[in-house]
Amino acid sequence: MSHYWVMTPVYTYVEPVLDDGSGPRYDTRDVVCVAAPNKREARKEAVKTPEFRRHVNDCRSDRVPPFKGLEVEDCLCEHGFCWCEIPDCHPDEEGCPTCLAKDRERWEAEDRERRENGVGVWI
Ligand SMILES: [Zn+2]
Ligand SMILES: [Zn+2]
Repeated sequence: MSHYWVMTPVYTYVEPVLDDGSGPRYDTRDVVCVAAPNKREARKEAVKTPEFRRHVNDCRSDRVPPFKGLEVEDCLCEHGFCWCEIPDCHPDEEGCPTCLAKDRERWEAEDRERRENGVGVWI
């Protein structure tokens, strides 16, 4: 069994802030982590999850197969670490040290840039 991220196509979500159901709009996608022997089975597993209920309902009302447009990505990073969210997959590890270090570097660089440009400074 491998672990996969399965993603729905991007859709616009309206956060119902006002009484008439209107509010800020976000482009978003639903993502779920599943264990499956291959990508094809991963799609099948994903449409059974509660995370994908909205997507499946949308497809049903549009009469399109729910597997259409789903993106599947291997959870393994290039260094062979699994970065899925499945409990018990990697209970002792936070993730790949190389990727984490790279992430941290990127955040720090972005942070520096923000401060130098004076954008997004917290008061
Ligand atoms: Zn995993
Ligand atoms: Zn890595």
